[in-house]
Amino acid sequence: MNAEIVAIGSELLLGQIVDTNSAWMAQRLADQGINLFYKTVVGDNPERMLETITRAMERSDVVITSGGIGPTQDDLTREIVAQATARDLVLDPHLLEQIEERFRRRGFIMTENNDRQAYIPAGATPVENPNGTAPSFIVEDPRAVVFCLPGVPFEMKWLFDNELIPYLRRKFDLSESIYSRVLKVADIGESGVDDLVGHLIANSSNPTVGVLAHPGQVDVRITAKAGNRESADKLIAPLEKEVRELLGGHIFAADEQTMPGVVGELLHARGLTVAIYEGLTGGVVAQQLQEAAGTLFAQGSIGQQEAMLRRLLESNGPGASYDALQQDGAALTGQLAIAVRAQAGADLGLAVHSVPDPAQGSGDGGRRAPENLGAGRTYIAVASSTGITSRLYNFAGPGAPDKTRTAMHSLDLLRETVTRLA
Ligand code: ATP
Ligand code: MG
Repeated sequence: MNAEIVAIGSELLLGQIVDTNSAWMAQRLADQGINLFYKTVVGDNPERMLETITRAMERSDVVITSGGIGPTQDDLTREIVAQATARDLVLDPHLLEQIEERFRRRGFIMTENNDRQAYIPAGATPVENPNGTAPSFIVEDPRAVVFCLPGVPFEMKWLFDNELIPYLRRKFDLSESIYSRVLKVADIGESGVDDLVGHLIANSSNPTVGVLAHPGQVDVRITAKAGNRESADKLIAPLEKEVRELLGGHIFAADEQTMPGVVGELLHARGLTVAIYEGLTGGVVAQQLQEAAGTLFAQGSIGQQEAMLRRLLESNGPGASYDALQQDGAALTGQLAIAVRAQAGADLGLAVHSVPDPAQGSGDGGRRAPENLGAGRTYIAVASSTGITSRLYNFAGPGAPDKTRTAMHSLDLLRETVTRLA
């Protein structure tokens, strides 16, 4: 069985709203193990809607539409689906009653155009929409099943989960779903992960292994098709063990867990306070760190001015002078970590110091997207009771992806340090 999504609405084509409905539905279908082969967006135009829905019915078993079932003149889905399935549009008295009742309960006057919503293609099955007035409906045509959902996201989502999915499972006798375990990996890039687990990606079928990269993080997803979670877990377990052996301490979390969440748990379990200095990243690391540490976040210093670094070091550092350290980014960052730790009287000091390449932005004719990796160096150091741990990265861009990466790496170094302290 395969499904197809048709998102309806001219505002989607104009870019005024983003078609988030289709992406959400696509994920849900994948979770259910239902194949999705096409997604289309079409405007509120009768000919093009008819063409799109007819074509979808010819090549797919299930056509899911979203939008255009409201009361206004540009809501054409009912009419067009009736045409596409060669049916009349007929008044469903029961639906009309429901709509009238809903208006009465809310104390609204029902305008005449709301009648329109009580018309559905002859022989269609109406589906009550408890979150809105526009009823949803199903037309079972010999070519395909057409399930028409409202466009309003929360109405659509409720009907999708509570009506559409159960209907499809019954109708197509679907007994298996897709279950995943996501292992989250830090401080090793996508190709590094691929080097280590690539053979599993290439050679597994149920479960399968896939890799997805984000800035500073790589997800290894192990996916099984099974009748229930328990059987899926049995299929996933041996592969998960293998992936964990291959990636070891690089795996920082699983499934819904996040890096700030994991670091927060570690700090709270040990009651450790943290202070931070960061420069180029302008508070992004501090924000994530504060989110992670909560009340254990002792203090943050943000800025890049030489005078500030000088003050930090000279009033709190163990006698190291800025002038002596200036040329040595790694040493300077280590001393800054010691200085912020001392200044705040915290258990841990984190310093993030970036030195962008001075040639950045010139020489490339302005043809680099600001999101691209910025050239330069980023030093990260954590000072604790046992000394300094540090890392160096070869990027230092002012853009959001580099900041996100830097925050991930900083929290990861903190995670590593705290784990080692125990
Ligand atoms: P209504 O009764 O509100 O008219 P409807 O089924 O006719 O419901 P539309 O008029 O097509 O739905 O869309 C209503 C609103 O829902 C849009 O203004 C938009 O905010 C949102 N919406 C519609 N389609 C989508 C979509 N594909 N993705 C995200 N939001 C959408
Ligand atoms: Mg509408």
